[in-house]
Order: sequence, then structure tokens, then C-alpha cells
Amino acid sequence: MSKEIVVSGIRSTGFLHLGNYFGAMKNYVQMQDEYNCYFFVADYHALTTHPDPKELKGNVYRVVAENLACGLDPEKVALYAQSDLPEIPELYLMLNMMAYKGELEKVPTFKDKVRQQPENVNAGLLTYPVLMSADIIIHKAVKVPVGKDQEQHIEMARNFVNRFNNRYGELFPEPYAFNFSNELVKVPSLDGNGKMSKSENVNATLYLADEDDVIRKKIKKAKTDSGPTEPNSEMPEYIKNIFLLMKLVSPQEVYDTYTNAYNDCTIRYGDMKKQLAEDMVNFIAPIREKAKDLQNNEDQLKKIMKEGAEKARASASKTIAEARKLMGINYY
Ligand code: AMP
Repeated sequence: MSKEIVVSGIRSTGFLHLGNYFGAMKNYVQMQDEYNCYFFVADYHALTTHPDPKELKGNVYRVVAENLACGLDPEKVALYAQSDLPEIPELYLMLNMMAYKGELEKVPTFKDKVRQQPENVNAGLLTYPVLMSADIIIHKAVKVPVGKDQEQHIEMARNFVNRFNNRYGELFPEPYAFNFSNELVKVPSLDGNGKMSKSENVNATLYLADEDDVIRKKIKKAKTDSGPTEPNSEMPEYIKNIFLLMKLVSPQEVYDTYTNAYNDCTIRYGDMKKQLAEDMVNFIAPIREKAKDLQNNEDQLKKIMKEGAEKARASASKTIAEARKLMGINYY
């Protein structure tokens, strides 16, 4: 039986963080043996918010290096830059004829961006979910390992797939968001406000490039209170978040010990944060060091990206030829 096809991308807009790791990369690594995987650096998507040419190349290399450091094997997956596949913007243009202004304006991530950069509400931001759909269906992917924040975009991709198939004939399968755990993951920020992110909440986000003392400092500052006064009481959101982070990186028995201490009101958040900080350092440090080594070897990164692009283009060019034919764009 042929392997199921998987696509996912990460924008080259800044340093990768724990949210990217648990929402995306951890799944990538787990999927690389069983699935036919295409993973890319979303450099075109980055232009919607980060158009600075001086930063782009370094950011792209770093994202590739950080993905490899997390355990991606370029022999097993196609790892490439989005802009190396001209078939993606071609399909994006085709899909734009099936995407409506009203539905795009309603997307929460678009509304967020309008709020964040009111001086630059470009059409690329509005049509972000269309480009993302093209990224996915160009390889006819069925599974998309992403975090919870992307669920609605994947639903839109299914809408575009159905519109295309109904209008022109069956070509694309419906893609679905995927995570190895039962639920899609959302890694919260350390200040109790929203999720970890590449550009917001910098002091409340743990980056895979953070040095040990930075990790310790950020966790020390995480929001807590004086502790529960009633046994088995409901946790406030910011305390839940600290437990969630502990669940992600600490051994189960450590997590259980602190959960019990919370429930019988003996918990000391200072101790808990110290423990979490050490477990986090042990988790992040090896990834950071490996990514640094890889970034010092640009030739190797370039070779991996070129080979990845070749593999990905072989699949993308087949899909675009089929789409053109169904649409009647095949004159010669
Ligand atoms: P982005 O950083 O927006 O390019 O997202 C890259 C991938 O990381 C996507 O699959 C997101 O769903 C995932 N991701 C980003 N932030 C988080 C977060 N705080 N928690 C879980 N997943 C996330």
C-alpha cells in the first residue's frame, strides 16, 4: 500500500519555540517513517509580515537547521523552501478564483494581523489561507501536522478542495489537521496570556535557541500566586499552563508529585518552577547545540534544501499538470 501523504510548513519569521516543537516538529519526526512527508519553510508566508530581505535568508537557514536538530532526516522527508516550488503560486492563483472576500475577512488570524499591523493590511495577509491550501494540496496531502491555531485554515483548505473538485472534477483529497496525541496541542505562554509565539510575548516564550540561563530566568518569572487554599480546587489558567509545560518536558512521576502537592495544598511554586526550569534546560539544550552546529555548515543546509526541492517539485509538477488539464488550460 502506498504511504499517506503529509505536508506541513513553518514560517521563517523568527526563532522557533516550544509551541512550534510540540504543535509541529515533534509530529514531523514521528511521521517521517510511516508517511510520505513534505515539510517546508514558508518563506512566502513570511513576506506577509516580515518583508526585510536582509533577514530572510538567515531566518530560512535557521528554520531548516532547527528542524534538522529536532530529528528530521532529509533522506526520509522532502525538506524545502516554499519559494523553490513555482507550482505553489500557480495553484494559489487558481484557488484565489474560488476564495471569497467575505470568508477570508472572517478568519481570526487575519483579524489578529489587522490589529497587529494596521499600517500593512496587504492582500497576502487576506489570502494567507489560500496560499496555505495550495501548499498542502499541491502534494495531495491528507494529513497536516499543525497546532490548534491552524485548525480553521485546514477547514478552509477542505472547502477549496471541494469547490475545485465540484467545479472541475475530482482531483484533490480533503486534508485534515493531525497530532499524535488525541488533541491538537496549544503551548501557552508563560505569562498566562495566549500562546507562545515567534514575535509576541518574547519574554514569555521559550525558544529552541534560548541559552540555559535565559530559560531559567523566563520560567522563574512565570506568573503564579500564593497557592491553593482548598484541597482539589480548580486551577487558574496560568497555573494550568505551568502544569501543561511540565507535562510536556518532565518525567511523569515529577508531574504527578506536583499535581498531588497542588491537590493537598502543599505545593511550593518556587520549587516547581526550579524543577521545570531544569527539565526544560535538559530538553532544549541538545536541540540548540545541534542547530548551532548545523548553522555553521551552510553548504550542507543548501544541499539538503536543493535535494528537498527536487523531490517536492516532482510531486508538485504532476499535480499542477492535472489541475491545468481539468481547468482546460492545456492548449498544446
Ligand atoms: P508558525 O510559527 O505560525 O509558522 O507555526 C508553525 C507551526 O507551529 C504550526 O503548525 C503551528 O500550528 C505550530 N504552533 C505555533 N505556535 C504554537 C503554539 N503556541 N502551540 C502549539 N502549536 C503552535
